[in-house]
Amino acid sequence: FFFFFFFFFPTFLPSQFSRTLPLTGIPLAATVAFSLSDLSRCSHSLTLDLAAMATSAFGTTTATSNYRNGGAANARNLPKNSSVKSKTGVRKSAPGSLGGGGAASSSSKDDAGVPGRVRVAVRLRPRNAEEMVADADFADCVELQPELKRLKLRKNNWDSDTYEFDEVLTEFASQKRVYEVVAKPVVESVLDGYNGTVMAYGQTGTGKTYTVGQLGDEDMAARGIMVRAMEDILAGVSLETDSISVSYMQLYMETIQDLLDPTNDNISIVEDHKTGDVSLPGATQVEIRDHHSFLEILKLGEDHRFAANTKLNTESSRSHAILMVNLRRFVKGKDSAVSSENSSSLQTVKSLKPSVVRKAKLVVVDLAGSERIHKSGSEGHTLEEAKSINLSLSALGKCINALAENSPHIPVRDSKLTRLLRDSFGGTARTSLVITVGPSPRHRGETASTIMFGQRAMKVENMLKLKEEFDYKSLSRRLDIQLDKLIAEHERQQKIFEDEIERLTAEAERQLSDAERNYVQALEGSSPLVLYWPCYVFCFQKERSKYQKEYLESIKKLEEKWIMNQRKSVNDENKLRHKDVGSNVLPNAKESKVAPMEENPEMKKLLEKETAHRKAVEEEVWTLKTQLAESRRSEALQSSEIVKLRKMLDDEAHQKEKLEMEIGKLQSHLLQLSVEADETRRQLDSGGSEEVLSGLDSLLHQPRQPQSDNSETGDKESVAKLFEQVGLHKILSLLEAEDADVRIHAVKVVANLAAEEANQEKIVEAGGLTSLLKLLISSEDETIHRVAAGAIANLAMSETNQELIMAQGGVRLLSNTASSAEDPQTLRMVAGAIANLCGNDKLQMKLRGEGGIKALLGMVRCRHPDVLSQVARGIANFAKCESRASAQGVKAGRSLLIEDGALPWIVQNANNEAASVRRHIELALCHLAQHEANSRDMINGGAVWEMVRISRDCPREDIRSLAHRTLTSSHSFQAEMRRLG
Ligand code: ADP
Ligand code: MG
Repeated sequence: FFFFFFFFFPTFLPSQFSRTLPLTGIPLAATVAFSLSDLSRCSHSLTLDLAAMATSAFGTTTATSNYRNGGAANARNLPKNSSVKSKTGVRKSAPGSLGGGGAASSSSKDDAGVPGRVRVAVRLRPRNAEEMVADADFADCVELQPELKRLKLRKNNWDSDTYEFDEVLTEFASQKRVYEVVAKPVVESVLDGYNGTVMAYGQTGTGKTYTVGQLGDEDMAARGIMVRAMEDILAGVSLETDSISVSYMQLYMETIQDLLDPTNDNISIVEDHKTGDVSLPGATQVEIRDHHSFLEILKLGEDHRFAANTKLNTESSRSHAILMVNLRRFVKGKDSAVSSENSSSLQTVKSLKPSVVRKAKLVVVDLAGSERIHKSGSEGHTLEEAKSINLSLSALGKCINALAENSPHIPVRDSKLTRLLRDSFGGTARTSLVITVGPSPRHRGETASTIMFGQRAMKVENMLKLKEEFDYKSLSRRLDIQLDKLIAEHERQQKIFEDEIERLTAEAERQLSDAERNYVQALEGSSPLVLYWPCYVFCFQKERSKYQKEYLESIKKLEEKWIMNQRKSVNDENKLRHKDVGSNVLPNAKESKVAPMEENPEMKKLLEKETAHRKAVEEEVWTLKTQLAESRRSEALQSSEIVKLRKMLDDEAHQKEKLEMEIGKLQSHLLQLSVEADETRRQLDSGGSEEVLSGLDSLLHQPRQPQSDNSETGDKESVAKLFEQVGLHKILSLLEAEDADVRIHAVKVVANLAAEEANQEKIVEAGGLTSLLKLLISSEDETIHRVAAGAIANLAMSETNQELIMAQGGVRLLSNTASSAEDPQTLRMVAGAIANLCGNDKLQMKLRGEGGIKALLGMVRCRHPDVLSQVARGIANFAKCESRASAQGVKAGRSLLIEDGALPWIVQNANNEAASVRRHIELALCHLAQHEANSRDMINGGAVWEMVRISRDCPREDIRSLAHRTLTSSHSFQAEMRRLG
């Protein structure tokens, strides 16, 4: 009867991954910046993904201020925008506007983002015709002091409350001013690459739609925020490189309907847990190229909204209208060195600064009337409808309250609206809220609640983050183009070079061979003269001087007339030779010897000159050759550099793709898990404390229930898939991650894996058990202790693992954890783990020797029935093993449980009101009673009474009869019973 059980952890329970900021003296912005930059540092690893998953965007909050209207105080400390014309031609917002300054527009490079509190303006609607008449005798319930940015809400004739806002817009404020103060800074941020939100909140009829959605068809001056925002966006972008697309939806009864395609009436929300971005891929997206087409879209949306609302028998004030403008801007990288001809090609490549793509989003929300929170039930709606109408708006209120109060749990998943706006409140967007109020004293209550909503929203701090991505594609394209250019240029230069070398070589060779031939011929030509002198001496001399003259001339004009002169000279020689052959006159030897002697020095000089020339040419050829080799080498170097860069780029892109795929998969699982966890969370939130415990219990036990439902199977499958996709080693390595959130999530993932019998062996093989045991000492975090102990408990179900745990000193570690833990659920897990070890016959002595029983008994200080039940289970397991050992004759003497002083607690709790505690103890008592060696202590400890009770009242037949048999077969008990009468 080993009551092995599985612990199952809600891995992504939102409350556990919301960030809690201690209210210390450290400036809040710094605290947040640090933690976020910590996360972003590992942006390319899985670590981030888990960490990012672990950080809910709504979780980043500002510390509450003591100042009554705390937000206003913060507002004053922020820098203001200057009124200068930006490059885009859009006028920058005026000083004192809601935007609060250029922190974001300065495109901070800091990954952690720029703090940006939610800005809130209040706008008062002028009295309408009815109010003019009906409230003629009454003063307005609000009084505005725009210069002090104050609003006074009248309580009665002599008393009022004062509130400060970022901006106070009187009934005379123009639509233009409202836009400039409320929305323009947000629009500018969006143009700079940050997400932005503008939202109107207030009672029906106070002017939300007027402020946000007015088209201004008849009166241009009445154009609302949506129209004006698009005008500024269109003026600020360049449509050649940038693109704008819009979606327009309404949210009614927790359903998102596409206002641009009425058939598309159930759009789902997709959240990117890494970036915190929320998108609606199912919604129609229309590309906007000009203002006219945008107005058409808004009109189409309005028509569909009217039609949809008529069909649903509702009215627009019961639905939230959401306009989403997606802006994609291309920011060209710098590659200045490319244009410079002289710079080395290597430098050129290095100086490339990649282009980036900025994908910012503007969300404009016209909320449903806020009075619906209180009144919808009384207006004859069905209960379901009333709940749904309220759900999103009250969930928004709860999130804002939680953020304003710096609460650790932000119930962001409670409604579609809060999920849609998770980046807008406590996220990375610049957010501006306009709350609209009416003047009528009859709606004072509504006005007061609107004001309170605005006041709380002012305390919400966002961390603006640039939505910028590296433009891999364009960088690769640019590298390609540049590579092609460089290659072409090199080929051209090389060709010129080679042609030139060829020309010079050929010329030099020709010159040399000509000169040599010339010389030889000159020498040959002189010999007959020697022989036939003096007959032709005159003729020779004449010829010679002619030759010399011509030759010298030919040298002078070497380049141009070389060949011609050569030919002439050769001809002359030939002629001369011809004449010599034809004569029979013997030459005068003396004379003949003188002539060459006179001629040779000049010829020699010529030859020397030619040789020098040849040398010079050779040298030049050599220099050119080395230059060519050099240039080839540098070209090769450069191409290899380019190849390397390309490869790096490919690798990066590949890596990115892989990571993105991984992230995608993880996210889809996470989404599934968090939806389910959230579901449970909601159940827990709505129940009382008892329900909470049983809810948690059912959550923890989910996978073991045989009648498993779909969601449970989904959980198992998704955890198993996660396991397959991420890889066990990777998950286990995260147990040692620096970031505590990552560690917590990793241990939860491991615990959930360990809850599956199929995974246990793999986990242990991969060293998971050792890592989990280590976590018990290395971590101080209670959650980690709880989850790790739970995982160990699950692993401790197999005998092999039990031995491993013992061998690795697990009992001492668990005992230490037990003595320091306070959380009942931690104690429950530790007790569960030890209880499993208690069921192993071989480990009895060692377990006891290492203080296992003492640790179990120590945990009863926590009176939580879950803990007591595990302690009782451990004792029952231990007693069962002991009784088996005694029966086999392996063990003699008193029970170790009695030795360690467990009996009094056993007796006291034998009739515990919790059935799970009672059942285990009844079994334990029966086992202890099997052995005579225990009977004395049992009798003295009052256990006989309990045995009697069990034998009579125990609802379980088998235990009842076991108790009965034990009592009747034992002499000591019989005697005692007789004694007691
Ligand atoms: P809501 O959307 O909050 O229900 P509406 O924008 O529909 O309210 O406004 C209700 C009525 O009041 C409309 O007729 C609108 O034209 C008028 N209105 C609202 N605000 C103003 C304002 N600031 N100046 C003039 N008329 C206004
Ligand atoms: Mg409206």
